[in-house]
Amino acid sequence: MTTTEVENFPGFPDGITGPDLMDRMRRQAERWGAELYQEDVEFVDVRNRPFTVQSSERKVKCHSIIYATGATARRLRLPREDEFWSRGISACAICDGASPLFKGQVLAVVGGGDTATEEALYLTKYARHVHLLVRRDQLRASKAMQDRVFNNPNVTVHFNTEPVDVVSNTKGQMSGILVRKVNTNEESVLELKGLFYGIGHSPNSQLLDGQVDLDSSGYVLVQEGSARTSVDGVFAAGDVQDHEWRQAVTAAGSGCVAALSVERYLTSEDLLIEFHQPVTEEVKKELTDKDVNEGFDITLTKHRGQYALRKLYHESPRLICVLYTSPTCGPCRTLKPILSKVIEEFDKNVHFVEIDIEEDQEIAEAAGIMGTPCVQFFKNKEMIRTLSGVKMKKEYRTFIEANK
Ligand SMILES: Cc1cc2nc3c(=O)[nH]c(=O)nc-3n(C[C@H](O)[C@H](O)[C@H](O)COP(=O)(O)OP(=O)(O)OC[C@H]3O[C@@H](n4cnc5c(N)ncnc54)[C@H](O)[C@@H]3O)c2cc1C
Repeated sequence: MTTTEVENFPGFPDGITGPDLMDRMRRQAERWGAELYQEDVEFVDVRNRPFTVQSSERKVKCHSIIYATGATARRLRLPREDEFWSRGISACAICDGASPLFKGQVLAVVGGGDTATEEALYLTKYARHVHLLVRRDQLRASKAMQDRVFNNPNVTVHFNTEPVDVVSNTKGQMSGILVRKVNTNEESVLELKGLFYGIGHSPNSQLLDGQVDLDSSGYVLVQEGSARTSVDGVFAAGDVQDHEWRQAVTAAGSGCVAALSVERYLTSEDLLIEFHQPVTEEVKKELTDKDVNEGFDITLTKHRGQYALRKLYHESPRLICVLYTSPTCGPCRTLKPILSKVIEEFDKNVHFVEIDIEEDQEIAEAAGIMGTPCVQFFKNKEMIRTLSGVKMKKEYRTFIEANK
């Protein structure tokens, strides 16, 4: 969950950020004995029993599965979209809005629903002005969001308007977008430095495609009022099976229904194995401030902040792995423990530095960081690789192994 402020989750009267809510849920699950692995699942077989779930790291056999992979932001497929993806075009204002590329600039958001309006309002924290491009002649967002948009002097809403393509300057940077009025076909250029997509999501149901029933948009079909799919023992929860409500609390509620359904299913099939673990306050450590030395000591592997990066850049004979993050970026929180584990495998052979791009704007700008999370590798004062977004663990491991 990468949303910023969640104001409507029960139990948090003052609101909570999406990543904080996820941290709390994860800690709670771990306290009750859940083992969590942050890996990409690449293959699922629910045709043969026991079922198989396979990631790059392990293969798990199981009698029941809860499928809760959420939904992914849609793209517009503009002619120059790939060229400018992560160089001006982004599908996550919350992850990328604070990057130096967009700060103080004129930006645009495409879409007319809750996602687009939330993104436009969020971007006004950093941008000089935000244009909201809406294909229809009205917003689909909730009335409350509409009011907030219309009352914000830093947002201009353009109805009946769609982007046609990116316009660039002589340096090859995004300088604007060509837009078309859908009712008159009139085209014009809006000068801006960033385009954010808020045009909805597609369910991440690919791993089950052809194995369980999906609806025409790809959402997993569940029996009404339950989490049961068309295959016994396979349950679905959250946005991957819900094109209507798509809220954190409805996703959590359907997750609860799915978990209870699994227990009931396993009991009825005589497959339940009771697992008792003493409740412990200890939770698995992630890469937090506590893990990272505040004072600089070159013999340590993990560091934080631009001072450490500058020192290491000049003095370290090791491969340096720099992780650029921003405080509200959900994917950054996903990546940190993944990368932390890989770094621990190469302790004393690599140096690791985390840079918060809000705290250390200057260095993020110098490094050309356009979104978070972003990982850069340096060796002998040369930048040898950039990996944007969250990659699979093996990609970081293979690169470090080959360059350490
Ligand atoms: C901009 C924005 C603002 C929002 N604001 C609010 C709000 O204020 N209040 C509210 O209630 N809701 C809000 N929502 C909606 C809310 O975030 C979702 O409804 C909720 O997160 C859905 O939960 P989920 O668990 O189904 O999916 P997600 O939260 O998307 O989680 C799915 C998880 O599955 C993982 N995954 C997918 N494929 C694989 C794979 N192959 N292997 C391993 N892992 C995989 C993903 O990485 C992800 O971690 C907002 C959504 C957006 C986009």
